Amino acid sequence: MCGIVGIYNSPKAPEESYLALLMLQHRGQDSAGIFSFDQESHSFYGEKNLGHIKEALPENQIINLKGNCAIAHTRYSTIGKIRKEEIQPMIMNYPYGIIMAHNGNIINSNKVGQELREKKRRMVLSKNDLEVMMNIFAENLSKPHDVLSFDEIKGAVKEVHNSLKGAYSTVSYIADQGMVAFKDPFGIRPLVWGKRKLTEEEKDLNKNDHDYSYAVASESKSLEFLGYEDIQELKQGQLLYFAKDGNIYSEVLSELLPRPCMFEWIYFANADSSIWDRNVYQVRLELGKHIGQKIKELNWDIDTIVPVPDTSRPSAITIAEELAKPYREVLIKNRYAQRTFILNTQKDREKAVSLKMNVVKEEVQGKNILLVDDSIVRGTTSKKIINLLRKNGAKSVYIVSTCPKIVSPCFYGIDFPSDKELVSFNRNESQIAETIGADGVYFCSLTDFKKIFGKLNTCRACLDGEYPVDIKESKTMISSRVEYEKTNLPGLC
Ligand code: AMP
Repeated sequence: MCGIVGIYNSPKAPEESYLALLMLQHRGQDSAGIFSFDQESHSFYGEKNLGHIKEALPENQIINLKGNCAIAHTRYSTIGKIRKEEIQPMIMNYPYGIIMAHNGNIINSNKVGQELREKKRRMVLSKNDLEVMMNIFAENLSKPHDVLSFDEIKGAVKEVHNSLKGAYSTVSYIADQGMVAFKDPFGIRPLVWGKRKLTEEEKDLNKNDHDYSYAVASESKSLEFLGYEDIQELKQGQLLYFAKDGNIYSEVLSELLPRPCMFEWIYFANADSSIWDRNVYQVRLELGKHIGQKIKELNWDIDTIVPVPDTSRPSAITIAEELAKPYREVLIKNRYAQRTFILNTQKDREKAVSLKMNVVKEEVQGKNILLVDDSIVRGTTSKKIINLLRKNGAKSVYIVSTCPKIVSPCFYGIDFPSDKELVSFNRNESQIAETIGADGVYFCSLTDFKKIFGKLNTCRACLDGEYPVDIKESKTMISSRVEYEKTNLPGLC
């Protein structure tokens, strides 16, 4: 999972993309990059580096980036550590000069990369699947000429859709032509766009008479914050082309129904964002309400509801309301510790959980606690926290997961790669409780989960094993990860 931003026709494009990216920091902390294009000097400007956005992109260097369009990316690697070559955005010199960034995972990138080498003599230099996408896109743009038409862009995106299997939301800038944004045919990963009215001063700086600047981003909040309006989700397979003539060209290149990833609402997206017009905070409140009603029927002896910070807070609040029990934030997070999944080995992850939390002992001693987490994936976090609560005197610890049981790997960009690592795989509730040391465990039911989303048929492949995109070629992805865990070599993203 990653965060992407594209700004077009704003004299403050590099700064705006930087600020929007900061609002997406939670989507990835491995690396960050910004590339802009300046029409006057006909040059790309850019910075990219490993680490959090503030470390990777020092502000005094961002203000030196020129141009009125910029593409930015913050990265969460799903497979292995990364080398500098793998950091996004990526750039390419021919045809036109292209900047590109994506959020997602391409299942068949190894195979397509090999075909590009053998049939097109294109050399893929990194292990990043984005490079394969950028090559397919570039290969299918017609020979360079003055003004690219929408049909030509459409042809290239259709070829990306035909060749690449997976989940991807992409933003790209073609030098001196325009900005392109598109989603995979199921629209699995989020992407929104909006516009901002320019001041007369900004129009003068732009040296054109277009009234608006346009922006795309992984989450709505990052654009609202910059004053962009009319924010809309791109549809499944939708292509948007913000052209040099000031027009926006749009077409939905998919006849499939949307399958947005449910994990955005569960964990990834910020609570103040809306994905496919469903506000994340409100979905989390609703999840808690449904779960609370079910917990009542279990007759568990509970004194206090405790959220695992931060994502599960809204659900814990409504669970507490349903059960009419006090809600207490007794797990105190060390805000300077890293999110545990971002660390690459199981050992690192276990270490990081201990670094992350402290307990308010005075509120825990002698209490029967109902812990609420957004998800139980490998069980690493819950096991550690339950143990911590017991060490601090809790009488009993029950746990609720607002996400139903995760039993299948995700090949579309989230880090649950192998079913054997999943604590819910081939285990029932009491076996899971025993494994993580809980007195009882409850997962939101699939039925309640589907009810909350209504007509929106989310991608729930990790819950029910029904994969919208063919996963035949996923084996190479898994072996890359296993290889990495063994050898510490760089892997795919
Ligand atoms: P685990 O410790 O493996 O059971 O993972 C579940 C915990 O990690 C929960 O506390 C989540 O908030 C968090 N989490 C779940 N999915 C992810 C993810 N893809 N990346 C980072 N953290 C995650």
